Amino acid sequence: MQETPTLSAARQVIQDNLDHTLFSWSRQKGIAPIAVKYAEGVYLYDYDGKRYLDFSSGLINVNIGHGNQRVTNAVMKQMQEVSYVTPGCVTRARGELGKKLSDITCGRLPKTLFTTGGAEAIENAIKLARLYTGRHKIIARYRAFHGASYGSMTAGGDPRKLPHDAQQAPNIVHVEDPYCYRCPWGKDISTCSRECVSHIERVIEFEGPENVAAILMEGESGSSGCIKYPPDYLQKVRALCDKYNILLIADEVMSGFGRTGKWFACDLHGVVPDMIATAKGITAGYLPLGALMVSEEIARYFDDKILWLGLTYSAHPVCCAAGAEVLQIYEDERLLENAAAMGVYIEQQVALLQQRHPSIGDFRNTGLLGCIELVKNRITKEPMARFNANAEEMAVMNKVAARLKQLGMYAFVRWNYVFIAPPLCITREQVDEGLAMISDAISIADEAYVQ
Ligand code: PLP
Repeated sequence: MQETPTLSAARQVIQDNLDHTLFSWSRQKGIAPIAVKYAEGVYLYDYDGKRYLDFSSGLINVNIGHGNQRVTNAVMKQMQEVSYVTPGCVTRARGELGKKLSDITCGRLPKTLFTTGGAEAIENAIKLARLYTGRHKIIARYRAFHGASYGSMTAGGDPRKLPHDAQQAPNIVHVEDPYCYRCPWGKDISTCSRECVSHIERVIEFEGPENVAAILMEGESGSSGCIKYPPDYLQKVRALCDKYNILLIADEVMSGFGRTGKWFACDLHGVVPDMIATAKGITAGYLPLGALMVSEEIARYFDDKILWLGLTYSAHPVCCAAGAEVLQIYEDERLLENAAAMGVYIEQQVALLQQRHPSIGDFRNTGLLGCIELVKNRITKEPMARFNANAEEMAVMNKVAARLKQLGMYAFVRWNYVFIAPPLCITREQVDEGLAMISDAISIADEAYVQ
């Protein structure tokens, strides 16, 4: 009798996943996922023992690094005590995490509504802004991603929303980003008059300030290419909000929890928003959790009015226990300080790479939230792959991504962007290891450079 050939453990894992699960944002045929057996620190290991340097901290969320047993122990302890209570009950973990979040904003955002992730935090921020102001419009930016639920996706301008275009949520108005490398107003940072801000003010006037509930912006831009704010931009936006009684909502889902070397990216700009919507780094991805933090004024408003928001898994005790432990780890391991220091080191090293690789057009970085932008020519700035590029236009960038994977890097490559966003516990040696791989892979893009 003929024996049925058995698949290797790795093949079996991959096959079960391909046969029975769906993959986000992808054509389902031809996917070649890494089967991760375990992960530790900045590395992932597959079933064949191959090691991958995780240069994107998962989805830019595993800020403390993989496999930290302190989180496992905190989660186990919480589960042994109580795994679930309704959001109407309270637990030690919920109160502890709420207090820690208030503390890291120096009490400026003293109360938090917990959600299960980033998109839900944004959805609730939008609803709350409308409830609180009695206005309906939200101003947001084109080059931004705020999540994949209908409201949050509409608020973003990321082209992943375009297939759902006909069903967008109403009353969201978009503005241009302050994309200095490709300034929409053709200006230069040293000579501009912050046309990016006056543009927002004009949009407010066109839309009727009395209709605008909030301006929603990332604390620092992430997956749209780490587009950095000009100095004073966020302060000027805050001033606009104050002038027209509009709330400022900072999306710190990706930029929060040490990613930029500060607790929140807004701290870099000396700006206090009225709300922070956050997730990812709050548990470093160990469990799903989101948070909507609000100012004293907003919190007080609901002392006497009903807060028409709620979720079955709001303030899930196990997720809150993970969050409280993760926040303690940031402090104990001095991860914010390390992110800031490694960020400076990366900037120096990428500047050297830029001398060797003509295809590096721009590098934008804060702490460990960075992005290399590849171009076909530095003068024309023609991108190696344009915004929302199709498969054919991605030919070179796909080769760059494939080379990184072959070399043993888990990297986030999108259009003409190569992101550098490793866990905050990364060492100099590990940065060097990663940048050597990136240098090797970018040589492929150099070949497509047009003199
Ligand atoms: N906001 C930003 C800036 C993000 O980067 C993301 C996800 O990448 C989200 C919101 C949505 O978060 P989630 O995927 O947890 O819903």
